[in-house]
Amino acid sequence: MTNILGTTKVVGIVGHPVVHSLSPVMQNAAFQHLGLDYVDIPLDVQPERLPEALKGISALGMVGTNVTIPHKERVAELVDELTEEARLIGAVNTVTVKDGRLVGDNTDGRGFLKSLLEAGFDPKGKKAVLLGAGGAARAVAFCLARAGVMVQISNRTEARAESLSNSIESALGAGHSNVIPFNTDSLFQSICKADLLVNTTPVGMLGIYDDQMPIPPECFHDKLFVYDVIYIPFETPLIEAARKNGLQTLSGIKMLVHQGAIAFETWTGEAAPLEIMESAVTSYLTAR
Ligand code: NAP
Repeated sequence: MTNILGTTKVVGIVGHPVVHSLSPVMQNAAFQHLGLDYVDIPLDVQPERLPEALKGISALGMVGTNVTIPHKERVAELVDELTEEARLIGAVNTVTVKDGRLVGDNTDGRGFLKSLLEAGFDPKGKKAVLLGAGGAARAVAFCLARAGVMVQISNRTEARAESLSNSIESALGAGHSNVIPFNTDSLFQSICKADLLVNTTPVGMLGIYDDQMPIPPECFHDKLFVYDVIYIPFETPLIEAARKNGLQTLSGIKMLVHQGAIAFETWTGEAAPLEIMESAVTSYLTAR
């Protein structure tokens, strides 16, 4: 670790709890690799103390902070300014201090999209089926819709899927999104005609539903690209089954690294060392 000196610029990750956050691992590896005099620290903030903590970010002269569960929506109400992206999504995962003011951004969707483009997926005119309608789904859905993808949302609680689809339609116009009932028959029919399947539910996540798949493998077809935003484990049952069926896949590690890289670039003005960040995260998770 680089020496922390009086000159060191400080960023952080605000969450509750933050013990499992991978942001300090990833950001500090990047700072160290580029020899930047920055440090990323975990900031465990109780929900009732969030307004005070945010004021402290600016008062303490910090450069900014990432934001994680459960504070993303509340921070969007507390910052001085929101980027258009954060306003559309209704949640903030990155705060930057500009002239003493807190600017809230959301880099999750852009991180997701960058990883998809990097993997060679051309979004224009494509159809996606999105499983889930929570925070990650909102970020992914807006970015996909803006990139020209027709986003078909399916969620256990259908009202949340309707609400997300309505927000997309009112922000971007009609024809960008619709809702699919959350049952195997409807999903099967929609996935058959889709180019991309994105899982944003926690089904398949280590310790929660780790032996389960959000949809049965019978829904797969040769041209389907399968993206699971879960990053623990690296390979969920969905990704494993898709890979074994010869489909193109991506796991949540790529989205995690790209969303962190965008925050890094906003804070430092330097190009993020993506490979270093990904390798720091994967080595850390493998060693646990
Ligand atoms: P969230 O806001 O709580 O949303 C969870 C969504 O999953 C909701 O739509 C929920 O449906 C649905 N769901 C929950 N349990 C389900 C089940 N048993 N069966 C079917 N649907 C279920 O959570 P989130 O913040 O979006 O996070 C979701 C996942 O994304 C987590 O695994 C998280 O680690 C991951 N994530 C990854 C990244 C990354 O950078 N790779 C970034 C953010 C999040 P209801 O509406 O019916 O409750």
